[in-house]
Amino acid sequence: MDKPKIGFYWCASCGGCEEAIVDLAEDILRITAAVDLVFWPVALDFKKEDVLAMPNGSMAAVFINGAVRTSEQEEMASLLRAKSQFVIAFGACAQLGGIPGLANQFSRDSILNYVYDGAPTVVNEKHVRPSVRCEDNNRTLTLPEFRSVVRTLEQIVHVDYFLPGCPPTPRLITSAIDALLTGKLPPPGSVLAPDVALCDQCPRKKSKPEQIRFAAFKRPHLTSMDSDLCFLAQGVVCMGPATRGGCEALCPAANMPCTGCFGPTSRVHDQGAKMLSSLSAAVDAKESDQVDAVLAGIPDPVGTFYRYALPASLLRFSANIGSAAVKETL
Ligand code: SF4
Ligand code: SF4
Repeated sequence: MDKPKIGFYWCASCGGCEEAIVDLAEDILRITAAVDLVFWPVALDFKKEDVLAMPNGSMAAVFINGAVRTSEQEEMASLLRAKSQFVIAFGACAQLGGIPGLANQFSRDSILNYVYDGAPTVVNEKHVRPSVRCEDNNRTLTLPEFRSVVRTLEQIVHVDYFLPGCPPTPRLITSAIDALLTGKLPPPGSVLAPDVALCDQCPRKKSKPEQIRFAAFKRPHLTSMDSDLCFLAQGVVCMGPATRGGCEALCPAANMPCTGCFGPTSRVHDQGAKMLSSLSAAVDAKESDQVDAVLAGIPDPVGTFYRYALPASLLRFSANIGSAAVKETL
């Protein structure tokens, strides 16, 4: 009997999700023995033409990591959707927009201006910008178009399952692949991780205060942190209450607060808004200047509360990034 055909692809991401496959260690041998890997550009020499030649629906599943920023990523996501029975959004960037999604605070032009002119290390006297098409020595060169906003995979194609994390843990990856191989899949649209808040699985949960009051927010790199006490009890922002469990509380175990990479549980509509509203209500100050002084302890609120989920949030992008962004997301 033919083995199920599986593909991996990456869009706008750092490559950590690809490394997470290698982190399966010896389990990767069991998995590659059970499946036929037919597309994995980062590791195997397959091309887009190989995917085009596949019959529609011939792949059992494709795991796509990374957010969607370019026309090429949109095209590949649609092509892989057509060729696969299941599409799995693999990791925080594909699921929620991830770190690349923080670019949704800035217009396309301001990003290109900074990268090709404004950055201190750039010399570009002719102010050259990348162009989707140019002629050179009778050859036509093309580049993908850089879209106005970063989008999640689900904002481009239908997604069957979501594997959360930055990156997903080896345990979650193997259990997702085993579920695919055995057909023991949860309802379509599920996030393949426990639907509980991270605090429920955190070894520090006994010290989490019932009532939290913040007279100041402390920053992890400027604070000596107790290795057993809940971070919130130490005045350090921890995204655990607004974040899905399933990561084995990796960051608290390493004495670092959670930054929210597993995204929200099913009961939380907007991860950043949930955390922001609960912390704002806990600010221990009455006068507006006192409130401002406390909030100054969080100098980057978007990067703190929406680090992985700005494109998936109710906001999706800053209002000042232009009408092209609005058109692209309609
Ligand atoms: S807030 Fe953070 S440190 Fe405290 S219990 Fe939740 S995950 Fe653990
Ligand atoms: S503790 Fe938070 S940031 Fe760290 S791996 Fe878990 S979900 Fe991600």
